Order: sequence, then structure tokens, then C-alpha cells
Amino acid sequence: MADCFDLIVLGAGSGGLAAAKRAASYGAKVAIVEGDRVGGTCVIRGCVPKKLLVYGSAYRHLLEAAPSYGWDLGEVRRDPARLLANVRAEVDRLNTLHIGFLQKAGVELVSGWGRFQAPGEVLVRASDDSERLLKGERTLIAVGGRPHRPAIAGAELAWVSDDMFLLESLPEAVVVVGAGFIACEFACILNGLGVQVTQLVRGDHLLRGFDREAGKAVQEGMEAAGIEIRFAHSPAAITGQCAPGELTVTTQSGEQIPCGGVLLATGRRPFLKGLNLEAAGVAVEGHRIPVDTDQCTNVAGIYAVGDVTDRINLTPVAIREGHAFADTVFGGKPTAVDHETIPTAVFSQPEIGTVGLTEAQARARFAQVDIYKTNFRPMRHTLSGRDERMLMKLVVEAASDRVVGCHIVGPDAAEMAQVLAIAVRMGARKADFDATMALHPSAAEELVTMREKWRPG
Ligand code: NDP
Repeated sequence: MADCFDLIVLGAGSGGLAAAKRAASYGAKVAIVEGDRVGGTCVIRGCVPKKLLVYGSAYRHLLEAAPSYGWDLGEVRRDPARLLANVRAEVDRLNTLHIGFLQKAGVELVSGWGRFQAPGEVLVRASDDSERLLKGERTLIAVGGRPHRPAIAGAELAWVSDDMFLLESLPEAVVVVGAGFIACEFACILNGLGVQVTQLVRGDHLLRGFDREAGKAVQEGMEAAGIEIRFAHSPAAITGQCAPGELTVTTQSGEQIPCGGVLLATGRRPFLKGLNLEAAGVAVEGHRIPVDTDQCTNVAGIYAVGDVTDRINLTPVAIREGHAFADTVFGGKPTAVDHETIPTAVFSQPEIGTVGLTEAQARARFAQVDIYKTNFRPMRHTLSGRDERMLMKLVVEAASDRVVGCHIVGPDAAEMAQVLAIAVRMGARKADFDATMALHPSAAEELVTMREKWRPG
């Protein structure tokens, strides 16, 4: 006997939770199916625990600067194991909280892995192998993504980002592979926690897709902190025991790097395994489920949101897509998601916060582009003597005077990018920035006091 619902949601991550609760608020009978922990990538093995680790690792820089501000702390001892345990405890708390939110919203949590039997029919297998058949008038696929391991010998000996949150201690040296969000963030976290980090980058720059100059500024900051970044280097093989201090990475040029752990941060892929999409007739394009502007797949009544659609793989985007789906389908309020002008940050150290077009994208799109930029030592480093720089860059379409891109590297860059996103989205002009009074003393005041157009040379 099948249990019948108005909506079956597959995946209790950011997108699925948002959609399930919003649909239930409109009176829909909703089941959410989750084989792992409620909370998904963001809460369990992504944004939230990662940011806590960033805070933890950044204490190193604060402690180094403390004497210049009159704080002698004596002997300072680091204890990454305690940090890792505290972060796990916080994840447990949030997991419980999210289960409570579902109960409060009247959404039924069905624990187990869901598998399509037919369109609108999902068989859920629990960890004790018991099975339950669910029937739904509508189904939402919100199963997210998983880290992708490249096909190199010994890849199974390496960690992926999920594993980093399960570690109980850290080795002395780690090799990080990749140049994207996760590689840069973890290279900095590990470095801050006292681990010697070598980062292998197959290309010639970090953070593809970000403004090149901003990426370069991140690179310089990371190198100044002691991270060894090797460009044009890829691993060919990982050998050894899966135990601290006992791995060797052999690069494609034959160099051998001994280390206690390898993190493969080489991208993520939609997690389609086991869904049996064929039974429902859901089309897959490459690794992703394509959807229309209403989040609908090729099959009427089956929808998808979040990383499984591989559009813009960010938590707030998945949440917005989940809400838009529920508003449109259950709330009678057709809602489209605007995938333009999404602020984003990489919590590397220094961090990068950005919104809008990179300089290269703007030059490709507009006839004339003006650049305003400044590179300075933030006031917080004047007493410490630390030579950490801050970069701010505005990309302006000359004809309309609209600010079409903002790129910041340095302390609090993410916080600034979030606020700047409002102005950029509203179509603020450079003249609006100029007319805005500076807030002194702040680093952000530089954003409204840049007057000189940058000229090459
Ligand atoms: P990214 O796509 O950002 O980066 C993947 C990196 O791996 C790239 O540098 C890529 O190189 C490199 N790479 C891929 N394959 C290989 C290989 N075979 N050998 C060597 N290098 C390789 O993926 P991430 O895993 O860092 O992050 C996944 C997604 O998660 C992001 O796109 C983002 O949407 C999300 N995320 C967001 C965060 C945030 O908002 N702060 C934090 C973490 C993740 P190349 O550039 O040459 O292709």
C-alpha cells in the first residue's frame, strides 16, 4: 500500500527543505525523503562547518597581531582536534534544529534513499532495509551534488571535502589539489591551523571565473601566509597508507611530495546515483537534470532545484529556487528566479567577495568599460605591521555609468559584497557611488571615494 502525498521531495538539503516547508505552508501534504542527515551539504558538510573552521583558523592571524595591540598572551597552544570536535557538535545541533523545523512545518520526514519506480512513485529504502512506497502528485528532486574524484591512481586514498569535517586531528603536511572555491578555502583553513600546505593547480591561476586581478590578490595573500602554490602541476598518482604522514603524491612531471593527507577539491557533480530516473523518464543532460524557468524537468509533475540542476551551485540560490517552485506550484504565485547578479564569496584568507561581471566579462559585453581600483593596507594592519593588502575594484559600463561589477579582496569582503549586491542589482551608477557619503574610518569607504579611472601603465 502506497502512502499518498501532494508533494514528495527527494533530498533534505537547502533547496529541498525550503521547498517542502513553503509547500506545506500552503496546505500541501508533503513528505521529504533523506538517506543522510537532514541539512544537506550546506549545514552538514559545507558552508556552515567550513565557515566555523575559517573562523578557527583565522585566530592565528589575530594572535600574531595581538602584541602590537598591547596583548601579550604568553605561550599559545593550538588544538585543532578541539576545534573539529566543537564544529561537529554545532553541526549536530543544527541537524536537530532542522528536523524540528520540519516537524513544526508539518512535513513528514521519511528516512532512507528514494528510488523512482514510475513517475510520481518513489520507493524509499531505510537503513534497516525496510521499504516504503510513496505516491506523489508532484515530485521535487533536490538531491544536490557530491565531490568528484578525478581518475588518478590512488584517488581513493585521498580525502574529498566531506571527509574534512570528520577528521579528529590534522597531519603536519597536506597536499590540496584544485584551484576553486573548496581548494582555496581548505588550503587557507589548514594553513591557519598550522598545517604545511602544498596546493597543486593544473592551470596558471586560482579561482577560474572570478575577476583575474582579484584571484591574483588572493593568490598573493595565500602565498604570503606560507601556502606553496604550484601552478601547472597535477597529481598523477597517490600512493602509501591511508594514515598520517604516509602518503606520497607523484605529480605528472614525476616529482614526489610526501604528506599526511591529500584533499581532492576538483569539483562537484549532481548526485544522481540510485535515483533510477529512467523509470520516471526524467532526462539527464551531461551530469545534470535540466529544468525550465518553473524548475520543471521534461516530465510534467517532476521538478528539480539546487545543485542537481548544476546552474549556480550556491545555497541561497537553491533556497530561492525551492521557494519559487512552491510559490508557483502550490501558492498560486508564479515566481521566476533571477540567476543574474548573484553575490558570491570565497572564504579564503584573504577572502574574496564579488558581485556582477568580471572585468573580462564586461569588456566582452560592452563597447567601453571603465575600471576604478584601489589597493591599500587596511587600517587594522597599521599597528601590526602586517603587509596584507586589500583590493577593491569597480567595473563600470561607460555608456550608462552603471556599476556592473564589484570585486573586493581582504577582510570582510563577503559582508561588503552582500550589501553592494543591492546597489548593483538596482542599477546604481558610478555617480551614485560618488554621491554617497563615506563612512570613516572604514575600509569600505574606499568604494565611494575612488575618483580616478584606472589607465594601463
Ligand atoms: P570548482 O569548480 O570551483 O573548482 C574545481 C577545481 O578543480 C578547479 O580549479 C579545476 O581546475 C580543478 N580540477 C578539476 N579537475 C581536475 C583534475 N582532474 N586535476 C586537477 N585539477 C582539477 O569546484 P569546487 O570543488 O571548489 O567547488 C564546487 C562548487 O561548490 C563551486 O562551484 C561552488 O558553486 C560551490 N562552493 C561554494 C562555496 C562558497 O560559496 N564559498 C564554497 C565551496 C563550494 P580548472 O580551473 O583548471 O578547471
